[in-house]
Amino acid sequence: MDGNYGFVGLGAMGYAMAGNIRKKIPATSTLFIYDVHRPSCERFVSEYEAIGPVVITGSVKDLAITSEVVVSIVPTADNVRQVYLDQQNGLSAAPKNPQRLILECSTIESASTREIGETLKASGHGHYVDSPVSGGVPAAEAGTLSFMIGSERPSESESAGSVAARINHVLTMLGKPEKLFWCGKLGAGLAAKISNNYISCTFLLVIAEAMAMGIRNGIDPKLLQEVIHNSSGQSFMGDHVNPVPGVVAHAPSSNNWKLGFKTQMMIKDIGLGIDAAKQVGITPTMAEAAIEVWKKAAKDPRCIDRDGSSVWLHINDIKEDK
Ligand code: NAD
Repeated sequence: MDGNYGFVGLGAMGYAMAGNIRKKIPATSTLFIYDVHRPSCERFVSEYEAIGPVVITGSVKDLAITSEVVVSIVPTADNVRQVYLDQQNGLSAAPKNPQRLILECSTIESASTREIGETLKASGHGHYVDSPVSGGVPAAEAGTLSFMIGSERPSESESAGSVAARINHVLTMLGKPEKLFWCGKLGAGLAAKISNNYISCTFLLVIAEAMAMGIRNGIDPKLLQEVIHNSSGQSFMGDHVNPVPGVVAHAPSSNNWKLGFKTQMMIKDIGLGIDAAKQVGITPTMAEAAIEVWKKAAKDPRCIDRDGSSVWLHINDIKEDK
C-alpha cells in the first residue's frame, strides 16, 4: 500500500505529523515535503533524512507529481485553496491521478472543503478527504491525535486497497486507532471539529477568567486547579492548557507560552463556530462574547505568536520583564 508520500505545511502541527510519517513508512518510500517557509523544510531534512529519503520540492505541483498520498495542514481556507487549486503551482497543476489520496487536516469551513474536494474529484486530481485533528502539538508529536474524517468507516470486508482502508492506514501513523472518528461525507469531519473548537476556544477564556478570579480571592493557584479538576468545572483545557504559569508543568503557560495554538488563530476557529451556528439557526452567544476578547488579545504584543493561553497576560494586564 505504501508508495511515496507528500506532506504540505511544516508548522506547529505539520512538522511533528510529517516526522511520524517519515518514521513509519518504509525506508524505500520517499517523503516529499513543501512549505512556503523553506527553513522549516531544511530543518526537517536535517532531522529526519537519516531515517529515510526526504526531498524538498519547489511547489505543491512538484510534490503531487511523485506522491500517491498527500497530507496537508496549513492555517486557513485561502491557504488550502492555494495548495490545491492554484493553476501554476498547486496540486491541480500536476498531472491527473484519480487514485491519489489527499488528506487535508487544516481547520477551515466545511463549505470550502466541499468546494475544493469536489473540484479535485471532478478534474480527476484525486480523492480529497477532510481529516481535521485534535490534541495539539503534544499529540502530534506522540502520534496520538484524534481525527474527524469526512468519509465512511471501512467495512470488515473492505479490501486493503479501498479508499477507506488507505485512509485508515495513513491516519493510524498519526493518531490512535480508537480516536479515528468516521463522520460520513465530505465536510462532515470539519463540522464535528468546528463544534469541538467552539467549546475549546471559549473554555480557555472561561478558565483564564475563573482562575484569575479565584486567585485574586486568595486561593492558591495549584489548589484551585486541583479543586476544579475534581469538580464539575473539569476540562481538557484546564488540565492540559491551563493558562496560569506553574500550575500544570506541561502546559504552554509553564513553558514561556510555547506553541501550541497561536492566539491569532483563536479568532479563526471561534469565527468558524459562529458562522456554522448561524447557518443552522443557533445563536452563538458564548462565542460572540469570547471573540471580542480574543480580537483584543490577538493585537496584544504579549500574546501575538504565542500560545492562546497567553490570554492570561492580557486579561491580568501582566507586565513582562524584557
Ligand atoms: P502554523 O502557523 O504553525 O503552521 C502552518 C504552516 O503552513 C506554516 O509552516 C506555514 O509556512 C505553512 N503554510 C501556509 N500557507 C502555505 C501554503 N500555501 N503552502 C505551503 N505551506 C503553507 O499552524 P498550525 O498550528 O500548525 O495549524 C495548522 C492548522 O491546523 C490550522 O488550520 C489550525 O487551526 C489547525 N490545528 C492546529 C492545532 C494546534 O494546536 N496548533 C490543533 C488542531 C488543529
